[in-house]
Amino acid sequence: MTDRCNFRCTYCMPFDHYDWINKREILTYEEICRVVRLAAPLGVRKIRLTGGEPLLRRDLPDLVRQLSHIPGIEDIALTTNGSRLGDMAGALRSAGLNRINVSIDSLDPERFTHITKRGDLDNVLKGLFAAREAGLDPIKINAVIERGVNEDDVLPLVEFGREHGFVMRFIEYMDVGTANAWRLERTVPKAEILERIGARYPLDTLGRGDGNAPAVDFAFRDGKGTVGIVASVTEPFCGTCSRGRLTADGRFVTCLFSRTGHDLKARLRSDAGDDETGRWLEAIWTGRTDRFSADRLNAIQSPDGYDPGEHDKIEMITLGG
Ligand code: SAM
Ligand code: SF4
Repeated sequence: MTDRCNFRCTYCMPFDHYDWINKREILTYEEICRVVRLAAPLGVRKIRLTGGEPLLRRDLPDLVRQLSHIPGIEDIALTTNGSRLGDMAGALRSAGLNRINVSIDSLDPERFTHITKRGDLDNVLKGLFAAREAGLDPIKINAVIERGVNEDDVLPLVEFGREHGFVMRFIEYMDVGTANAWRLERTVPKAEILERIGARYPLDTLGRGDGNAPAVDFAFRDGKGTVGIVASVTEPFCGTCSRGRLTADGRFVTCLFSRTGHDLKARLRSDAGDDETGRWLEAIWTGRTDRFSADRLNAIQSPDGYDPGEHDKIEMITLGG
């Protein structure tokens, strides 16, 4: 969608100054829709708009509307930092947006601003409730839990979700990109997050949605909803991953931890026709061999250990989570 963002989350893009992708290199809505039209006959049913901050992209509801009319597309979701949701939730819903994830890592206003460097919790919460008012359902809250930063936010976030009917989705801190200078000690493992929740609210395992979702879901035994955990560091799910990604500048990427990606934009802006480009996409997807999370876990468990600096990765803001 875009690599631009109005926050600077410490675990994602903490740099105050960053060389944004030149606007001419960013895919147009027409180009994005063409890719989706080519991907739908190959089996793509669900689209997630992310970034950077997707709500910074002008006239986003127009894109949602166009995508919702593409035959075969059944579900359009959005991941956002929520800062502009207050104004846009209604228009997005009317345009055909089905689901939304809002990122909130802490319910403490000061800590929230510390993590996002520029965010205002109150404003994001207004956006969250505006999304509910607009009829978006389900609404999930994404929280990255980082050692020494917000482990003690796990229970308050769970309780907030249970009280207001939002689904909490905890994400292990991942070594995606390089700007965050990730270290393993900063990752709070799924097992520990589960223990914190389960000690207060007993849980039953449900498993992965559709068998291949990134999150493992758990039901509160008292019947008050569910909670999900994405554990790509401690419990890799490369074997069931079915997500292809399109970077803001038009690279087709088959793994969140890829070094580069495949230059789809060059094809879109060449004379290549739809059939040829569709076959190209299909060949890349069916030929993919990525299993970076599984390889990383093997390295972590090996005597040599894992050095995050050895592997270049595309920044999360270009790729989208
Ligand atoms: N700006 C939007 C937002 O923050 O929701 C969308 C893009 S953001 C890259 C998508 C998701 O990735 C967010 O939920 C964010 O918390 C998560 N994320 C970013 N960096 C991460 C990291 N190093 N480890 C785990 N999750 C991360
Ligand atoms: Fe921006 Fe989202 Fe990354 Fe935070 S996580 S810096 S809001 S793209």
